Amino acid sequence: MERLQKILAQAGVASRRKCEELILAGQVEVNGEKVSELGAKADPAVDVISVNGKVIKGEKKLYLMFNKPKGVITSAKDPEGRKIVSDFLKDIKERVYPVGRLDYDTEGLLLLTNDGQFANLLTHPKHHVPKTYLATVKGVPHGTSLEQLAQGIQLEDGMTAPAELEYQDVDPEKKQATITITIHEGRNRQVRRMFEAIGHPVIRLKRIRFGELGLQNLQRGKYRHLTPKEVQELL
Ligand code: URA
Repeated sequence: MERLQKILAQAGVASRRKCEELILAGQVEVNGEKVSELGAKADPAVDVISVNGKVIKGEKKLYLMFNKPKGVITSAKDPEGRKIVSDFLKDIKERVYPVGRLDYDTEGLLLLTNDGQFANLLTHPKHHVPKTYLATVKGVPHGTSLEQLAQGIQLEDGMTAPAELEYQDVDPEKKQATITITIHEGRNRQVRRMFEAIGHPVIRLKRIRFGELGLQNLQRGKYRHLTPKEVQELL
């Protein structure tokens, strides 16, 4: 439970001082009941809080899985006018944001939600959610190089944690290999940097699993709602 003015201020309604005035003026409701004392508390995770009839906290929680195409930005706006994830979610009225990010050139499974707690939990470094990528790399790495990646490799921002790798396909003509890699961290451009470190830059990168969730047959550029069971399994 938190003080109402703090919740309102954190939701970006106004300064805490101004939010106190809104409460005193009887403009704030919690679960449909007017609250006009300053000591009032609410639970931002479950209570529906509105100011002048407009719900600012407690919207229906949405959990989506999106198959991000290559060439799409995982952020709310792009000053250069490139495609952004919300361009693909036109029929979702709630404002959802991505759980972590995928590079502009990376495809695949991206979770989106309006549940801040859920997003924070899954992206917190302590949570170690396994994420699996299908990486097509230049050249055919040696088994020993993959073993090195599996054990941990030195990058500019420190050693990587152990990872799991498996060859999926080798194309001797194109001189490239496709490998699945599961990492338990989420550093910036981590998979690309790991393969670069062994001299095999990534040509194509697609995230195919996030925790227990697989992308399965979700088409590129499409999204679907997670089932309550899937949401539970991620936590
Ligand atoms: N690792 C990368 O290099 N890029 C991503 O988008 C995700 C993981």
